[in-house]
Amino acid sequence: MKQIEEYVRSIEDFPEEGIIFRDVTSVLQDADGLHLAIDLMQEKLKELDFDIVVGPESRGFIFGVPIAYNLHKPFVPIRKKGKLPCETIGIKYDLEYGSAELEMHRDAIKPGQKVVIIDDLIATGGTNEAMVKLVEGLGGVVVKAVFLMELAGLKGRERLKGYDVESVICYP
Ligand code: 5GP
Repeated sequence: MKQIEEYVRSIEDFPEEGIIFRDVTSVLQDADGLHLAIDLMQEKLKELDFDIVVGPESRGFIFGVPIAYNLHKPFVPIRKKGKLPCETIGIKYDLEYGSAELEMHRDAIKPGQKVVIIDDLIATGGTNEAMVKLVEGLGGVVVKAVFLMELAGLKGRERLKGYDVESVICYP
């Protein structure tokens, strides 16, 4: 059986020159790759006591939902601004170029609930930091963040000091 790293396709100069894009679609489009990715991410939650899985649009949904389903936990989506129909809490944060805004339903997390954040990749950590702020803004406690991939050179972990962050594949 192949290692998980072998399912990730790396695309040079996408979306801009100088960037190596780690493509997750090549993992998903292989039945073994998909299984392996979910299993290895889920393994990081073994014996962890938590209440809710939270994941961002859109690749966070792909990995967050099967893990929540397997562990019989609820899944709470974090979406781009303007997509959620009920009362929301929102956060604006800076991207490498420009900014983005994420939202979550206010009734999705109760104070004191233990939350696990799931996403495909951590780069600068900006997206994850924004998600932590949303969860904490509702009184939730982030007990762990799990990623399939980590671009260690972009130092996302440094923005998340004090939080339990784990990734399955770590690129330098
Ligand atoms: P950050 O906020 O940590 O800088 O960026 C993380 C977000 O950008 C994740 O939601 C991830 O989906 C996306 N992202 C950034 N670079 C890549 C990449 O090389 N491959 C993939 N699949 N997603 C990326």
